[in-house]
Amino acid sequence: MSETATSPTARRAGSGANPRIAVAGFQHETNCFTPIPATLADFVREDGWPGLTESDSLIRTFSGTNIPIGGFIDAMLDRAELVPVLWASAEPSNLVERDAFEVISAKILDGIAEAMPLDGIYLDLHGAMVCEDFEDGEGELLARVRNFTGQDVPIAASLDLHANVTDEMVSLADIITVFRTYPHLDMAQTGARAGDLLLEIIHRGRKPHMAFRKLPFLIPLQAQGTDTEPAQSLYGCLPAPGSLGTVAAEIALGFPPADIRMCGPAIITASYSREIAEHAADMTQERLLWSESQFPTGMDPPETAVRRALTAGRAGRPAILADVQDNSGAGATSDTTALLAELVRAGARNTALAALCDPEIVAAAHRAGTGREIRAVLGGKTGGSENPGFEGRFRVSALSDGKFDYRGSMMNGVRANLGPTAALQVVDSAADVQVVATSERTQCLDRAVFSHLGIEPADMTILALKSTVHFRADFAPLASAIIPVEAPGYNPCRLRSIPYRRLRRGVRLM
Ligand SMILES: [Zn+2]
Repeated sequence: MSETATSPTARRAGSGANPRIAVAGFQHETNCFTPIPATLADFVREDGWPGLTESDSLIRTFSGTNIPIGGFIDAMLDRAELVPVLWASAEPSNLVERDAFEVISAKILDGIAEAMPLDGIYLDLHGAMVCEDFEDGEGELLARVRNFTGQDVPIAASLDLHANVTDEMVSLADIITVFRTYPHLDMAQTGARAGDLLLEIIHRGRKPHMAFRKLPFLIPLQAQGTDTEPAQSLYGCLPAPGSLGTVAAEIALGFPPADIRMCGPAIITASYSREIAEHAADMTQERLLWSESQFPTGMDPPETAVRRALTAGRAGRPAILADVQDNSGAGATSDTTALLAELVRAGARNTALAALCDPEIVAAAHRAGTGREIRAVLGGKTGGSENPGFEGRFRVSALSDGKFDYRGSMMNGVRANLGPTAALQVVDSAADVQVVATSERTQCLDRAVFSHLGIEPADMTILALKSTVHFRADFAPLASAIIPVEAPGYNPCRLRSIPYRRLRRGVRLM
């Protein structure tokens, strides 16, 4: 958090006029309450996000995408000599296994060692990674990088809006930027902003003062959307991205299903003036404290939610039921079926649900073929007796290899690879409900999750989406109503019901 000069020798590493910057990314959002671990294979494999990517293919894979490292690369290509090292992410899940953290960290360290001498380092991190051995995965990675480079090489990191920022992250990095939107429409911009500030530090040869504030309460994920208040105004009041000669300010709203000491919202500001940075942090903290009681935490139980959807939805203007607690994008299993069961029980028609992860039933559907019927238990493969699955007959209405391009504003241009997928029509005399079943867990944040199987979401009367907030980017324009549902899932959104053991004393829950 100190303001120091960099060594003049560190500013002459680039072979030409442009500074030489190593670029790497290691992303995980850890949910300490889900039964799914984060293995090395999960980081290597492609899923709803690209798989582990190394060296020059980083530029090809991420340039033009709304992913932080892509935004950094696009903004810096003509202004820096980039040395691409590695990028890896896994779908949110429980603790990152030791092997995964050690192998990927070592590859990043090796890549940086090979790239030396460097003028700067950029890391595309999440900020909510918890490992088997460390509560603060990003802090540990930054410590290892800093230990290798010493103080001379400036390090910039971009973080997710859901980062659980720690003192270590702030003291080990020289500048940190954080997404300002949820749904995350500005991931690439946040990477680019980190690039601008890193270049400023390199060119001035001087590190800014960073101020850090940690807030004494947690905010449920479904209440953090920046299209709704109070988050919209909180981010709207941040100073526009600018120079460290004035001030840079960031807010992270935190990732509550992380049972760690430093769980929760935080504010980071940076300036060449210590006084200005500290003052901006105080002002932003005051606004966030004042907003505590205004976060919208409401959810309806499935029966009430479906009744409301039956009234509000019509073909071409669907009611959206957000299955906020079974969102794999927050670490849930995406295979609970209480909302599906209620839709069928209530006789919902012209209704589609996505995405339910069940590789077994997808394989059975592919063996049976399009137009055939199968009898099976759909979902409920994880979580024991509390998640029994939905037993019934299903007609296979469409099949796919699960490879398609996202087209919504959040993930536009990114290629999804969900493994084989199937559209399954529940065979029922009254209800007309289709389910998109996948082999990989994936958050339903893009209409293509339906349309790649021939289901047009805009034509439906009711859509049930396993997503907390991200779905709003692509689906809200279609919706006659958006109804958050409190159905079972491993992304607990009623924070007072979570059996935390490791939070800081006195942290308030909603
Ligand atoms: Zn996020």
